[in-house]
Amino acid sequence: MDLYEYQGKQLFKRFGIPVSEGRPAKTPEEARAAAEELDGPVVVKAQVLTGGRGKAGGIKLADSAADAEEKAKQILGLDIRGHVVRTLWIEQASDIEKEYYLSITFDRGLKKPLFMFTTQGGMDIEEVAEKTPDALVRLHVDPLEGFQPWQARRLIYGAGVEDPSEQKQIAAIVGKLYDAFVGTDAMLCEINPLIVTPDGEVKALDSKFTVDDNALYKHAGIAEMRDVEAADPLETLAREKGVTYVKLDGEVGILGNGAGLVMSTLDVIALVGGAPANFCDLGGGGDAEGVVDALEVIMRDPQVKSIFFNIFGGITRCDEVARGILAALERMTIEQPIVVRLDGTNAEEGRKVLADAAPEGLHVEATMLDGARKAVELAQGRRLDGAPGSAGGGSAGAGAGR
Ligand code: GDP
Ligand code: MN
Repeated sequence: MDLYEYQGKQLFKRFGIPVSEGRPAKTPEEARAAAEELDGPVVVKAQVLTGGRGKAGGIKLADSAADAEEKAKQILGLDIRGHVVRTLWIEQASDIEKEYYLSITFDRGLKKPLFMFTTQGGMDIEEVAEKTPDALVRLHVDPLEGFQPWQARRLIYGAGVEDPSEQKQIAAIVGKLYDAFVGTDAMLCEINPLIVTPDGEVKALDSKFTVDDNALYKHAGIAEMRDVEAADPLETLAREKGVTYVKLDGEVGILGNGAGLVMSTLDVIALVGGAPANFCDLGGGGDAEGVVDALEVIMRDPQVKSIFFNIFGGITRCDEVARGILAALERMTIEQPIVVRLDGTNAEEGRKVLADAAPEGLHVEATMLDGARKAVELAQGRRLDGAPGSAGGGSAGAGAGR
């Protein structure tokens, strides 16, 4: 889960990392009131879950409360690469002498947290890494040993920070950032820029904070920070219903049981010339409730032109899934045609259940390949010919289809 800058800064503050005082605002009036309280020049900052806000016009300095209101009007509603600004963060403006960069993330290859630090902050860190790789100091922390103070010194000397007061402040921030990273089960804590003011004060001017979704149950306060308004409504619905749902860009909605099968289904849809609109993973389930929930999420995606239900029965029994599908169809009206492929435990019974009921708009196919082809044909409104494994009736592709 990605946090907004102001939420990340709340966490920074909790762990003792210096940040400027600020207030969230949702309207120009609130921005004005916030600026009045903060008393002095402020910076009006768009709160969106994407970087580069400065360049996109989402960050503006304001020298008075009236000016803050004006700048808020300009920024609210702005579309920054698909993210519409609904919330602002009004913060006491800082004077900037230097802009550094500090982050901690996971190096999955080495299975260790990785610090990165450079005095070339403020800009895109990928650019620093590419153009002046020597300026970017990288340092791994052994998770069993934990963070050691010498590691902060290595980062600071490595990057060439010479001022003793800066060194001391940055060393403290590095240690606290590690605490924040571990203490919130974060995947990324990034400060860009970490500034030095003309008075020599070091503080975090920006924050990028990502917390591991799988650890949110341990951090109720952070889980509550999720902005349901900004999230994709279908992803929110799926989360509420406990359905694994991923939005994609094509036209076939996909429902399968188990991540491996779902991934192969995406491949087979692509193989026959289609593109998945999304996918849902039923996991080990397949009871009517689970099927209804997943179908409800999938069919609400306006891009879905057909639905491909691909089930391999293991612990899940195909007849049960078939009954789940029928129960789901009784409870709701689904506009899109549905293609079902059942294989594995009780597949024949399952197919028979569907054949006996024969609901309108439901097509049963024997193999994954035939099912995929049918679903793509229905979605695109055309017959596929010459597609891989194409064999008219479709039995030739049976083996490959699994
Ligand atoms: P980003 O563009 O999304 O990374 O947003 P940042 O919060 O990093 O802000 C972008 C840039 O705006 C910073 O690198 C600063 O140059 C500038 N900026 C942000 N806050 C202040 C401030 O308080 N005072 C001044 N002078 N500049 C600021
Ligand atoms: Mn930034």
